[in-house]
Amino acid sequence: MRMTDQRRVIAGVIEDSNDHPDVEELYRRASAIDARISLSTVYRTVNLFEEAGLVTKHDFKDGRARFELIPDEHHDHLIDIRSGKVIEFRNEEIEAIQDVIARKLGYRLVDHRLELYAVPIEGGEKGKDKP
Ligand SMILES: [Zn+2]
Repeated sequence: MRMTDQRRVIAGVIEDSNDHPDVEELYRRASAIDARISLSTVYRTVNLFEEAGLVTKHDFKDGRARFELIPDEHHDHLIDIRSGKVIEFRNEEIEAIQDVIARKLGYRLVDHRLELYAVPIEGGEKGKDKP
């Protein structure tokens, strides 16, 4: 893929983001660096990056596609459905049991996605509630 200046800026923004931003948030961050970057350029670019295997798209059930660079190390996500905060985690027991399930069904596991949708446990909330 040809790496234009604008694509390079957008790639850098995705690389610097650890909060799984959506296209509009990526546009806000990218256009702050290069004002010539349009929302449609960001849309086109993230789709190109996804096709090229550079970024992965997530649907965390809030109606917005979110993007992150394909990580070196696999991780799963917990989504705080009140604040929208996304927390990355990895659990070896879960990794292992998914492998066992696939094998019992006659398959070799090659990939998986796991999303936990959760609310903060009372007492552990930090007052970031949204209605
Ligand atoms: Zn992630």
